[in-house]
Amino acid sequence: QKETSIKRRKHKSSAKNIPDHLLPRVTIVGRPNVGKSALFNRLVGGNKAIVVDEPGVTRDRLYGRSFWGDYEFLVIDTGGVVTISKLHDDVMEELAISTTIGMEGIPLASREAAVARMPSMIEKQATFAVEESSVIIFLVDGQAGLTAADVEIGDWLRKKFSHKHIILAVNKCESPRKGSMQASEFWSLGTDLVDLLGFRHFLYLLYQDYADVEGKEDFVPAIAIVGRPNVGKSSILNALVREDRTIVSPVSGTTRDAIDTEFTGPDGQKFRLIDTAGIRRRVAVASSGSTTEALSVNRAFRAIRRSDVVAIVIEAMACITEQDYKIAERIEREGKGCLIVVNKWDTIPNKNQQTATYYEQDVRDKLRLLSWAPIVYCTAIAGHSVDKIIDAAGMVEKERKRRLTTATLNQLVQEAVVFKPPPRTRGGKRGRVYYCTQAAVRPPTFVFFVNDAKLFPETYRRYMEKQLRSSAGFSGTPVRLLWRSRR
Ligand code: GDP
Repeated sequence: QKETSIKRRKHKSSAKNIPDHLLPRVTIVGRPNVGKSALFNRLVGGNKAIVVDEPGVTRDRLYGRSFWGDYEFLVIDTGGVVTISKLHDDVMEELAISTTIGMEGIPLASREAAVARMPSMIEKQATFAVEESSVIIFLVDGQAGLTAADVEIGDWLRKKFSHKHIILAVNKCESPRKGSMQASEFWSLGTDLVDLLGFRHFLYLLYQDYADVEGKEDFVPAIAIVGRPNVGKSSILNALVREDRTIVSPVSGTTRDAIDTEFTGPDGQKFRLIDTAGIRRRVAVASSGSTTEALSVNRAFRAIRRSDVVAIVIEAMACITEQDYKIAERIEREGKGCLIVVNKWDTIPNKNQQTATYYEQDVRDKLRLLSWAPIVYCTAIAGHSVDKIIDAAGMVEKERKRRLTTATLNQLVQEAVVFKPPPRTRGGKRGRVYYCTQAAVRPPTFVFFVNDAKLFPETYRRYMEKQLRSSAGFSGTPVRLLWRSRR
């Protein structure tokens, strides 16, 4: 286990003030004697096991704080867990012993009482612990191999908790050959379970997709330039490519209707441009005006799907149309970054300092859906300000993969709740936010663990998003707020 052991870093001061009840939780489950206590102690280290003082929590579960880098979480040791009803007597006995061992530090009398209340108590405790956790570590013994109890626990987890992150951790693999041979048996526990040797990886999963795109150095964000016919998409593309002398290579698109061009922006950041304009003329020859519009929407949709950031181009003198709404909706739904490009800025007569402000208000009114998107004004035919599109796209892509620390996030959320608490229902019930965690990037996704998601009306959810944006930014990217009830 040496090479897979968790490297501990020093506590960051920013992270250590989060109260226990706000931390994400990781529960360790498994049949007796697989090493749950050892793993628990290993994770918790010097942080003594604590008994959390909150309603419904009994002493049959041990809690301890642990961390990975900046990320703190609470580890829960369930003592022993099995779907007891089906188990044989010998397993029951083993279970009783293990539960007692799992309760070190708890007075003997309570331990005996706990054992006496088995088996229903253990399953109840385990269920409770698992329900309140974001991640479950299902620990098995690599030397003993797969046992009937493992299979039952696996079934139990799969049936009841398939929506959670379940990590199968194979312990006792210090004799590698034997360990890996045995480990392969555990694949039979099911495809829903993630099979991992060692524990390191589960921490990545806890803050999911951390290792995903962020880890890829050669990742090149794709920008799609979309908009109605004649707004100036081709002109923008030409201006960008002409201005930029460091075109790397044309990359052939995956669809026939778009040619991608890779190029390097002013600050060295590489981009891929998805050109949706090129084919239009050929189509236009053969079809009527309305068909052309419809075709161009579909083409835009396909380009949006392949992109990371969408530049939606509108014409300064023209209105925003149905087609623009459709595109805006699609961008939001697919979680893509977005900037609004107001082209043909030269056609606005008598511009003064207020012109842009006036325009901005008008665009914001008409495209409320994209209220978070930055606006860029340019004159593509003269090559004016087109580089601003690239600057903005780079910024948007950064925001789209930005991650808040759990500490910052929870502080922000709690402040927002104090400033404006969720409304009270007629029955006097009120929503409570236990904690919030950023579960993903691209787009930034936040999970709010609350007492009852129904107690958070749409208006309150919008308020929370607004607060999040005003305190933490995320300009140019949709954000997702997910509300999860925890009883
Ligand atoms: P696309 O269909 O969106 O690709 O639009 P094009 O790039 O083909 O441009 C449509 C027409 O608008 C062409 O005649 C361009 O010369 C013109 N155009 C493009 N950009 C500008 C601009 O910034 N100002 C003005 N006045 N005309 C422009």
